[in-house]
Amino acid sequence: MKGGIDLGGTKIQAAVVDDSHEVLAQARHATPVRGGPPDVVAHMVEAVREAVEQVGAKTGDLDGVGVGSPGAIDAEAGVVAEARNLPGWDEPFAMGPALEKKLGTKVRVGNDVQVAVDGEFALGAGRGSSSLLGVWWGTGVGGGVILEGNPWLGRGAAGEIGHVVVKQGGARCPCGRRGCMEAYAGRAAMEMRARHLKKKGHQTKLFKIMEKHGRTRLQSGIWARALQAKDGMAVALIDRAVEALGTGVASAINVLDVETVVIGGGLGTRLGEPYVRRIEAAMMPHLFVSDRPPAVLPAALGDLGGAVGATLLV
Ligand SMILES: [Zn+2]
Repeated sequence: MKGGIDLGGTKIQAAVVDDSHEVLAQARHATPVRGGPPDVVAHMVEAVREAVEQVGAKTGDLDGVGVGSPGAIDAEAGVVAEARNLPGWDEPFAMGPALEKKLGTKVRVGNDVQVAVDGEFALGAGRGSSSLLGVWWGTGVGGGVILEGNPWLGRGAAGEIGHVVVKQGGARCPCGRRGCMEAYAGRAAMEMRARHLKKKGHQTKLFKIMEKHGRTRLQSGIWARALQAKDGMAVALIDRAVEALGTGVASAINVLDVETVVIGGGLGTRLGEPYVRRIEAAMMPHLFVSDRPPAVLPAALGDLGGAVGATLLV
């Protein structure tokens, strides 16, 4: 029996799985918005404890706990740095050792997107493939690459498909560069564009829907609802995102020639199959070898995918 934690900027999702990775129990906490690393760790511990108690066990009974974390990860030391969407995470923090002390079992920490991609490869949409490109479409656009059955980390920075250039001298990306895929497809970049257009007098229901749902950001559900309501700005910005994703994915395929592309992340999961088909269609014209395209599939593990994928670290 193993534990997994998907640590995000808004939620902490814990899961307990058996030896065949079936989910036995799960628990979710909101990520604290104040405090610092020890407060985040306390909520992580609590979420695992709640999940483990549902199966009548203690955290010390677990064979180990894996964590998918944002930021720059030193897997060897269990240290997380630059996790800017976590509160007070200004300095590198030894998350793994802190969790081990409180959980009474070994803890392994990995990058959140890579962990989710590994999960889809081993247990989800990528099962049976030997090579895979994961595209995690959310606030940013993250990615992960698996070649001949093994994660390809490069020198530590591989898989950053969000920063593949889809337009030279194009839109400003949150990373500071121009023309990246994320500058068109990332939710943060799309929200900036929407706010800019609204300021210039363009009509949209996006922000009314956001307020109606008590949100301050254009989260995935807000985009989905605006698309359902056929809001012109939402449709145009998502169309632009789909084109950028298709272009970027095709460029990566031309280099890597992987068997399978899995589209996940907050927006990818929320918009699901119809939009995955549209990304596939947008990819086709840019493929150099177009008569045997890769399978393009939505992520299959759903909301628990990150936590279940994290259990593979132990
Ligand atoms: Zn960028």
